Amino acid sequence: MEDEIPYTKFDSIHVFTEMEANQFREFGKEMIDYVANYLENIRERRVLPTVEPGYLRPLIPETAPEKPDNWEDIMKDIERVIMPGVTHWHSPRFHAYYPTANSYPAIVADILSGAIACIGFSWIASPACTELEVVMMDWLGKMLGLPDEFLACSGGKGGGVIQGTASEATLVALLGAKARAIDRIKKEHPDWSDAEIVGKLVGYTSSQSHSSVERAGLLGGVKLRSLQPDGTNRLSGEVLEKAIQDDLDAGLIPFYAVSTLGTTSSCTFDKLDEMGPVCNNNNVWLHVDAAYAGSAFICPEYRYLMKGIQRADSFNFNPHKWMLVNFDCSAMWLKDPSWLVNAFNVDPLYLKHEQQGSAPDYRHWQIPLGRRFRSLKLWFVLRLYGIENIQAHVRKQISLAKHFEGLLGSDDRFEVTEEVIMGLVCFRLKASNEINESLLKRINGRGVVHLVPSKIRDVYFLRLAVCSRLTEKSDIEISWKEIKEAANDVLSKNV
Ligand code: PLP
Repeated sequence: MEDEIPYTKFDSIHVFTEMEANQFREFGKEMIDYVANYLENIRERRVLPTVEPGYLRPLIPETAPEKPDNWEDIMKDIERVIMPGVTHWHSPRFHAYYPTANSYPAIVADILSGAIACIGFSWIASPACTELEVVMMDWLGKMLGLPDEFLACSGGKGGGVIQGTASEATLVALLGAKARAIDRIKKEHPDWSDAEIVGKLVGYTSSQSHSSVERAGLLGGVKLRSLQPDGTNRLSGEVLEKAIQDDLDAGLIPFYAVSTLGTTSSCTFDKLDEMGPVCNNNNVWLHVDAAYAGSAFICPEYRYLMKGIQRADSFNFNPHKWMLVNFDCSAMWLKDPSWLVNAFNVDPLYLKHEQQGSAPDYRHWQIPLGRRFRSLKLWFVLRLYGIENIQAHVRKQISLAKHFEGLLGSDDRFEVTEEVIMGLVCFRLKASNEINESLLKRINGRGVVHLVPSKIRDVYFLRLAVCSRLTEKSDIEISWKEIKEAANDVLSKNV
């Protein structure tokens, strides 16, 4: 009979080989050494790889190994297979997009998170996972100077949650706003169906907001209007108010607006203090997307850029961009999370627990069910750096951007196209878009520095973001030298 087969029989034929704890200690130490060496010597690597699509498949076998591989071979393959195809985001010469954070405290905390490996969808699924997150979001909210209404410790409805990305936060806020609007309109028009109401909902954002905002509208099945910002690329209250009035006149239901603090293209700041009253007066949920620039609000001197935050319904920024917490850690606060909790509440028996209601069950605050123990890396970063050092990091990166702006100013072939407020400099040669496109191609082709472009009102420009936490003044000067040499080539048609 099958159930008489002793378990040891499987054991003796080695159904699987398990890494022993002692091996883990040894391999783990070797990997930590590798990681420290990689980051310490990252300047020596070419920032952009030279591989072609499909480079990797021929380097490894076509099928998984029948028998275990050995550790030494795996370690060797990191340099042979992986590193040739890595874009080194933490090289001080990587200036593309916006930064993504990387720090030893966060990496160490992620090891612990990997060991605990809980799925903290409800309080009982791992009480520490939920409770540390609640407290960390309060710590972080206080560091930014967020109004008390957003903080769980205020004893009100508000509170914070760690989402995976800013895109998820924008979508989650939109869904909360949608639930709130449907609830309100149903009270006014009990005979209207959900479908009728949803068909009339309309949200607002700037044409300069991140593409994830438009996508949230598509995923949420509602109309989103893209509004024109002013001459300084900032969305104003006046433009928003006019759009809302036009839509009300057309019988639509304005329900959601996104204000961006630190746009992706050029790091400009919407006029939040003007947008807030317009939204509040029209029952429009105001979500603030400060994905990159939000980290700067830990420095009191930059909080003027979030003036009017008390009028917002939800606020989000990414510690995983600029606050030394490795991806993924996107901090979101809501004044009234009950709109999400109620809208997304499915409560099967296997997820219920006795303490329900006395602590957040974060599964209701997000799209997926599962969630990692992400607050650990926030806790480690905040404790091992302290607020002062994180502020110093942000200030240093802004001063490096200003230094680059100064270097550009010393060469009258170049112009800066946007005010430098944070760690991003937007610039171009005083020449046609085509010449600037050639300049970018030349810079990236040389492989020492990596930049990406953007275009606003048909003016093509290059963006230099100070990304790596390892960046020093001398690194910015090397990047500048590269850019100047590429400009020499392009302008002398030596390309
Ligand atoms: N919002 C803004 C203003 C951004 O700059 C970005 C990315 O750079 C995002 C949203 C998207 O961030 P995530 O990758 O966390 O969704």
